[in-house]
This record gives sequence, structure tokens and C-alpha cells, in this order.
Amino acid sequence: MQYQSPMVKVRACVKKGQGKVALTDIDLGDPGPGQALVRTTLTTICGSDIHIVDHIEEVPAGLPMGHESVGVVEAIGEGVERVKPGDRVVSACLLSCGHCVRCQNGEHSVCQTFGAPMNLLFGAQAEAFLVSGADHSMAIVPGGLDDRHAIFAADIMSTGFAAIERARLEEGQTVAIFAQGPVGLCATAAAKYYRAGVIVAVESIPERMEMARRLGADRVVRPEQAVDEIMTMTGGFGVDVAVEALGKQVTFENCLRVTRYGGTVSSVGVYTPLAALTLPTDGTFLHRTIVTTLCPVGTKRLQRLLGILDSGEVDLTPLLTHERKLDDIVASYDMFRNRKDGVMKIAIR
Ligand SMILES: [Zn+2]
Ligand SMILES: [Zn+2]
Repeated sequence: MQYQSPMVKVRACVKKGQGKVALTDIDLGDPGPGQALVRTTLTTICGSDIHIVDHIEEVPAGLPMGHESVGVVEAIGEGVERVKPGDRVVSACLLSCGHCVRCQNGEHSVCQTFGAPMNLLFGAQAEAFLVSGADHSMAIVPGGLDDRHAIFAADIMSTGFAAIERARLEEGQTVAIFAQGPVGLCATAAAKYYRAGVIVAVESIPERMEMARRLGADRVVRPEQAVDEIMTMTGGFGVDVAVEALGKQVTFENCLRVTRYGGTVSSVGVYTPLAALTLPTDGTFLHRTIVTTLCPVGTKRLQRLLGILDSGEVDLTPLLTHERKLDDIVASYDMFRNRKDGVMKIAIR
């Protein structure tokens, strides 16, 4: 079914210049071939939004921000078959076409058609936004699942879960997760979901230490003592899996130090602006597996994550520490950037 809407003017959060965002009216065209127009019901700010606004100079002023949202499809373009107006959907943070070689290989996050690495969805922090590759970049939210749960499938839950999945964690194994920011906390929840034996979270910010316990960590240790404590705790052997979720050389090295021979270091931290990540020559990288992952996307992935959330086995809503309106988004960026008031994620309606 093809459905066309008139040109719509929407309020949107845009990058205004280096380090600045603004709320402004933008024109959204009709959805083109393969696109869906989504009316936003819930969105949020991500660490990568701050990175784009503050550090990536190539991203021009005027670009609509935001890539995590839940909403209702309002109109679809030519060729869209899997969603229709009225469907409540979550959109993936990275767009995929479903038919290029990489999508065919299941590597939707590096879809060639939408140009990795900038196949990022833009414009979700707005009253409405367009999603390209709609048939492969969004999933219908199960009826009973609230927006506050569903939104996590868009980005950080997928990355956090992938950190554990790529490490091929087996039931009963020991995991250490370095840094409990939003992605690290999702990795902690994933370790719990996949029935890790012992989950050790590494963190020093009190609210995050508390949240780590709430989401499944058995022990929370401070970064300075992490290596010693984890080695003592494991009888000098080290953990089966260590997750790097901070993006620093020192945490990467500490992950290697606490991982047993034959174990796996799973790296999801973003290391820019580091020019290089180096392996220590003290032998801690020998006979370990090192894996990395982008945020896995695609409709099937979204459906699977929504299914996990819908089962009630994983509840990430405690991460939504604050609630704001779209009108307050400029102040919300400021709060999120400066981690004011113990903020983790802000639910923006
Ligand atoms: Zn993000
Ligand atoms: Zn593709």
C-alpha cells in the first residue's frame, strides 16, 4: 500500500555548531521509496550524540540529531511492505537495506547501501522523522511492551548484549565488565540473562555501582583495585570473559590482565580520539581471543531483543533516570553531557 502525506513541518533537535544543539522547525518531505515517516512517541540522548555534536567537525550544523526512538508509522513510501501506517515501531540506530552483500551476510550494521560507518539514523529527536530501508531497519513493538522498555532495543541493549554474545559466554562462566555506563550496564544485564556464574562490574561512580548491582552484578570493584581483586577472586586464574566498555587504553590492558588463558576480551568501548590502541608486550595478550562488535541491527535482531524485553526477563527501565519533554532537549543535552544529577538516560517525550 502506498500512502502519501503532505509536507510536514516538525520540531527537531539539530546540531547548531560545535558543542551546540538547538530546537528548530524543519520540513520533512514525503517518505521516498523504501522510507517510512515515524511520529515519535519516545526518544533519548546517546553518548554518540554528544560525540557528534562536540567532536566530529565533519558533521555539519543543521543536521537533525538522534538515533534512538519509538514511534508510530504515519506514512510509507513506495515499496515498503513490512510496516504500515498505525504500526508502533522501534527503529534501529543503524540503517540497513537488507539486500547488499553485507546485509546478506547478516552484518547489517555495516550495510553498504547506506554507507557505513555513517549509516547512522539521524533525526529521531524530533516530533517525526524519516527512516530509510524501513523494511529492514525497524520492528513492530509487541502490543503489551511499553515504549520505556522498547527504546533500548534501538541501540545500547543491542551493543551490550552483543558484547556478551560475541564472547560466546557459556552458562556458569565468570565475567568482568569494565565501566558501567549505559552500554556497560546493558552488558551486565546480558551476562545475567545468559546465566554467567559470577558477574564482576568495574566502576567508581556511586549511582552506577548501585545500578550495576540492580542489573545483575554480583560484585562491584573500583577501577584502581580491579585487576588485583579480580585475580584474587578467581584464585589467580582470571575470568573467562572481560568486557571493555569504556574506550581507554588502560581498561583494554586491564581486560587482558584479568582474562584467563584461553579466555576472551570483548571490546565495545569507543576509542576515538585515541590514534591507536596497542597490545602490551608483557604476554597478557597471548593465547586470548579478542573480539569487537558494532551495534548489531536489522529487523530480526530488533525482534529478538524486543522478545527478550517482552518476556520480562530483562528490565532496563531503571536506566531511564529522568523524563523530559522535547521542548527541554537543549537543557537535557547539557545534563547528559555533564552527567548532572546522576543521569543515565533521559526519556524524552
Ligand atoms: Zn547511540
Ligand atoms: Zn545493506
